Amino acid sequence: LIGFFGNEMNSPVYVVGGFVRDLILNIENYDIDIVVEGNGIEFAKYMAQQLNAIVVPYEKFFTANVIFKDGFKIDVATARTEYYESPGELPQVDISTIKKDLYRRDFTINAMAIKLNPQDFGTLYDFFNCQKDLEEGVIRVLHNLSFVEDPTRMIRAVRFEQRYGFKMENYTLDLLKKNLSERYLERVSGSRIRQEIEKILEEKNPIKAIKRMAELDMIKHIFPKTYYTATMEEKFVRLFKFIPYLKERFENFNDFYAVSTIFLEYYDKSTLEEMRAKYGYPKKFIETLKFTENIIIPVKSLIENRYPFSDIYKVCGKSNPYIYSHISAYLDEDEQNYLLSYIDTVLNTRIEKVTGKYLMERYQLKAGPILNNILEELFCLKLDNSN
Ligand code: ATP
Repeated sequence: LIGFFGNEMNSPVYVVGGFVRDLILNIENYDIDIVVEGNGIEFAKYMAQQLNAIVVPYEKFFTANVIFKDGFKIDVATARTEYYESPGELPQVDISTIKKDLYRRDFTINAMAIKLNPQDFGTLYDFFNCQKDLEEGVIRVLHNLSFVEDPTRMIRAVRFEQRYGFKMENYTLDLLKKNLSERYLERVSGSRIRQEIEKILEEKNPIKAIKRMAELDMIKHIFPKTYYTATMEEKFVRLFKFIPYLKERFENFNDFYAVSTIFLEYYDKSTLEEMRAKYGYPKKFIETLKFTENIIIPVKSLIENRYPFSDIYKVCGKSNPYIYSHISAYLDEDEQNYLLSYIDTVLNTRIEKVTGKYLMERYQLKAGPILNNILEELFCLKLDNSN
């Protein structure tokens, strides 16, 4: 259908990037990126009109999202038209245009396109031996300034490498190491780095990518005072085991914050402030981080010795998912289970009858620390009884 719309708009239309890569690898992928040679936004509007969908255009980037009623989304971009041939030779201009677009991409495995217009439907456009790299499991940049142009590609390289069990081609690896040590990653905004790390955290097995980043000495270019050690790796392994439980229990649980609790351990105040400015952590998160660092050893020992929940509660205070995630990195499986049942008990314990209001009316107590202490005591009693 998209190809027919292309014909109706007189534009060559391609599906590109990750979709083509995964199609060749026979892996499901519902992220459809369309490139239009012509006007991508006009094309998106036309397509949306025909299919009763909504368009969100980004005029500045010549791109648009087409969003269908069921939530399905297609990204439409315009092939950049910096490249001009004489107007008479239209087909060549077409090919050159998609070629240029593909050349600007991150790696060869992501730089193929499939044409969708009916007359050429299904034709693969592979200008840079991409399919061969894909078959051989090679991550290769398209040109030697690739990491300089966009240093976040260094993080992406690791992500694709680890996701598919591929290897970076030697020259690409050399470029990466060189550009990394020339501190190109430091020039990128924190939000873009954070986005790429978040994509790693969405992978099936993020620990593999974290390990590889450590091996390439990349971590210190992202978290400057972090020294990756075997102990840190163990913490990540335990943390990643526990995260799914926290996600079930806490809405909007943020994996980036969770791993940051480990990356940012033992940071001094001023570096933490720098990190907050760079990656946009809330102030409260930094406070939590400092707080947890001080309680982690005592809480671990309470859990190890299976102390009553009220004792843990007196140290941990109100539920905060990042205290829990941080602590979980220090616990073995049985201890994590104990922590989990503690968390569930805290989340499900309510003082129903004897509320603050009830105490004030029944005993003429005033709101204040005494009343709060009584309520906390009651809460603790209930915690232990519901265990
Ligand atoms: P995933 O399966 O993780 O979604 P993807 O390849 O679709 O992988 P996206 O980040 O959604 O990844 O990017 C879509 C496409 O856009 C990529 O296939 C790639 O061609 C291109 N792309 C994305 N980011 C960059 C970048 N930093 N530099 C160059 N090309 C990029």
